[in-house]
Amino acid sequence: MAKSYEKEHPVKAFGWAARDTSGVLSPFHFSRRATGEKDLRFKVLYTGICHSDLHHLKNDWGSSKYPLVHGHEIVGVVTEVGSKVQKFKVGDKVGVGCLIGSCRTCEDCADDLENYCPKKIITYDGPRYYDGTLTFGGYSDHMVVDEHFAIHWPEKLPLDGGAPLLCAGITTYSPLKHFGLDKPGVHIGVVGLGGLGHVAVKFAKAFGAKVTVISTSPSKKEEALKEFGADSFLVSRDAEAMQAAAGTLHGILDTVSAVHPILPLLSLLKNHAKYILLGAPGKPLELPVFPLLLGRKIVAGSAIGGIKETEEMLNFAAEHGITADVEVIPIDYVNTAIERLAKNDVRYRFVIDVGNTLKAA
Ligand SMILES: [Zn+2]
Ligand SMILES: [Zn+2]
Repeated sequence: MAKSYEKEHPVKAFGWAARDTSGVLSPFHFSRRATGEKDLRFKVLYTGICHSDLHHLKNDWGSSKYPLVHGHEIVGVVTEVGSKVQKFKVGDKVGVGCLIGSCRTCEDCADDLENYCPKKIITYDGPRYYDGTLTFGGYSDHMVVDEHFAIHWPEKLPLDGGAPLLCAGITTYSPLKHFGLDKPGVHIGVVGLGGLGHVAVKFAKAFGAKVTVISTSPSKKEEALKEFGADSFLVSRDAEAMQAAAGTLHGILDTVSAVHPILPLLSLLKNHAKYILLGAPGKPLELPVFPLLLGRKIVAGSAIGGIKETEEMLNFAAEHGITADVEVIPIDYVNTAIERLAKNDVRYRFVIDVGNTLKAA
């Protein structure tokens, strides 16, 4: 017999939710589970608005379930810990990113790559939680999570500017490390200067790499070079400049989540270099094979990172003074923020000040 949802989830919670594909969020009362032995409960302070929140909202990937409480770039402060929690105590600052569960036994889990676990549970709008209930993210007053999936927040890292690192940061840091693009002497291209792209530039520069930003918007040139420290800037429509830069890059991080041609970008790679896709276009991209064969080039994908690496990334960011450039907003601005995000009208990430502005209606 089905157990009562209220009995399983006795703790009242409040957030903002989408009810359908209309794209509008509104106040939402729900409940969360009691604090389990290995759980910690925390008050949400800041939550970043990730570009993928838009895709979930509009059901672009065909898997959205409503009501939908977004948010997977969450920073908070611990308010309660279960009896077997070892890593955290009340009052600790914590970060929770895109993952809140995995099988903990498969090869990837054993290698601290929970992000590739076939049974991973994402923070919102994914497969149901172990207890069969929908998962609700950080556009909410508090969360409860197994301590394995929470990360100690480094003291030096700002809470608001640091929040987006939990998705945008690890999504770019992990492939730079994994594909050997994390050292001086390599020349990296970053395609798209948005939420992901701007932190990709910051991490690549902190690793000592040379960075070229490739964008469709010439208006971003000055920021890319002066603020984020990129070494050069290419407008992808400028065929002459693209031709002049052919064969110069050891790796490209492509952060664009719209369908776009990759042939001109592949030509920027040196032979044996790597093209890494981080955006998730709703339709397949056309893959030109000849340039891959003739230059032994690699096309790969990468998705966020494991918990251990996310912790390493946050500490690296704290050490090197890396944060996302953010516009901090109150929760009741969220619908406008989402509209603006859809038009790429943000430099470079919205972060909701949940702690100070979310009040139960
Ligand atoms: Zn995200
Ligand atoms: Zn697993």
